[in-house]
Amino acid sequence: MSADVNEIAAAIRSGGLGEIKAGRIKQALGEIRQQRGRLELDFLNDLPLDEARDWLKQLPGVGTKTASCVFLFSLRRPALPVDTHVYRVARRLGIIDDRTTVEKAHRRLESLVPPEKVYPFHVLFIEHGRKVCRAQRPRCDDCVLNGLCLYFRQRQL
Ligand code: SF4
Repeated sequence: MSADVNEIAAAIRSGGLGEIKAGRIKQALGEIRQQRGRLELDFLNDLPLDEARDWLKQLPGVGTKTASCVFLFSLRRPALPVDTHVYRVARRLGIIDDRTTVEKAHRRLESLVPPEKVYPFHVLFIEHGRKVCRAQRPRCDDCVLNGLCLYFRQRQL
């Protein structure tokens, strides 16, 4: 919170958009300190997931995906961040339909995936989206999921 914004940007540069994120991180930490009196989020563990996520989303730069990442990776709660890979793979497989927005996909997928599977689901869908179910030219013929996949079936018609 007290670090220079340029120092923060330099530290997180490899993640991309470092300049933008640096300012928001600083602002968000300032908000947490102002609202809670100290820099900790453990109180969120006492709230239902949706309520806790809404609290985080009122912070600068925090949307549903970021809030879900905080829960999954820092607070170890079964929130399912839907990034571009998770969203694409879930739609192609037919788990969610094309009318489901990214925002709605968070709750929809969380309702379908058992809590203990949320972490591996998130991590493995990202890996699958990067390596096999790529945005351009998905490697469907090599894909272990092609027997279950709506996109693959439709392509065979
Ligand atoms: S079969 Fe193709 S579209 Fe379906 S999950 Fe595999 S790579 Fe993606």
